[in-house]
Amino acid sequence: MVIGILKEQYFNRVSIAPSSSKKLDVMGLTRMIEKGAGEKAGFSDELYHENGFTSTSRESVLTTSDIIVSIAPVTDSELGIMKKDAIYISMFAPYQNAAVLDQLSNYPINVISMDMIPRTTLAQSMDILSSMASLAGYKAVLKATDYYNNMFPMMMTAAGTIPPTKVMILGAGVAGLQAIATAKRLGAVVEAFDTRTAAKEEVMSLGANFVEVEGATDDRGAGGYAVQQSEEYLEKQRALVQERALKSNIIIATAQVRGRKAPLLVTEDTIKNMKPGSVIVDLAASTGGNCAFTENNKIIVTNGVTIVGNSDLSDELSGVASTLFSNNIINFLQIVVKDGVANLNEENEIIKSALISKSN
Ligand code: NAD
Repeated sequence: MVIGILKEQYFNRVSIAPSSSKKLDVMGLTRMIEKGAGEKAGFSDELYHENGFTSTSRESVLTTSDIIVSIAPVTDSELGIMKKDAIYISMFAPYQNAAVLDQLSNYPINVISMDMIPRTTLAQSMDILSSMASLAGYKAVLKATDYYNNMFPMMMTAAGTIPPTKVMILGAGVAGLQAIATAKRLGAVVEAFDTRTAAKEEVMSLGANFVEVEGATDDRGAGGYAVQQSEEYLEKQRALVQERALKSNIIIATAQVRGRKAPLLVTEDTIKNMKPGSVIVDLAASTGGNCAFTENNKIIVTNGVTIVGNSDLSDELSGVASTLFSNNIINFLQIVVKDGVANLNEENEIIKSALISKSN
């Protein structure tokens, strides 16, 4: 049985790192990679060859592999040339785009969408959303330092005392918590907002201040995700965000509600009143952003405030991001492939959740 790895068209990452080769070998899989697939992540074709992969053309990967892996989904015409009954592993985000399910049903292949893996303890090692979000949270803080004309820690020098930078985190999920930890390590004073009941303790355990907004809708039973809040709650929250934003220097915005537009938390009025030189990194940009002026994949400056609208910051850490992504995929394959045979057993909750289209 052959596993084929595609080169990403838009990302620097690659879905399977050379270091995963041994585990694929143990599963009984022959390894094939599209030429140059790992280059931007620091993995040369030679390194893949040394680890038992053969490199070949994209077409050959698509037409001869039994299992195909890519981070971003391929085009319709490429879905059409995959082998019948092939297993294609990617990220389709069907919760954002339900039409994709109809589209995929036209092809005689089995499609695994890694963003549908349940958020359970058992599936944690396969949770690509968490591993990428964690890297993005770290990078978001470093990104902010690039556009910020000051430093984070308090410093007493002969030339005067520099106060610590104030960082506000909107959304203390996986990315937000990593951003808190990173900003704290750099010496900033950090505070965070979240709507989930579990977030308060997590924020405080990292030494940050948790800003509470009364009246959040109960999120228990939402599988670890946030739930949509009432307009009344969001109004109250925006007022409090504004009050704190005017005292902040950096905002890392990560607040999202799965399958919905990201909540608007930083208004035009807030940005117009923030200190010039402040920086906002909006990791929620791809789902609409948490800030009024955010533009996806653009950096804009308004009223002296820089707003970085980039949700894919893990891609700027392409080496480590590829390695973690690869580990997540391997952990998933270990429940599917044994002795060179794949079994998409839907009695397994993880497989059942991730299998979004079946060959028939
Ligand atoms: P996410 O990316 O969907 O959202 C980011 C954060 O934004 C969440 O913490 C959410 O509560 C918050 N948010 C939504 N609306 C908000 C608002 N109006 N104001 C402030 N914050 C708002 O979520 P995520 O980071 O992928 O995951 C969230 C949580 O899920 C994690 O912290 C964790 O507790 C849980 N989780 C569990 C597992 C597991 O058990 N395997 C895996 C991953 C995540």
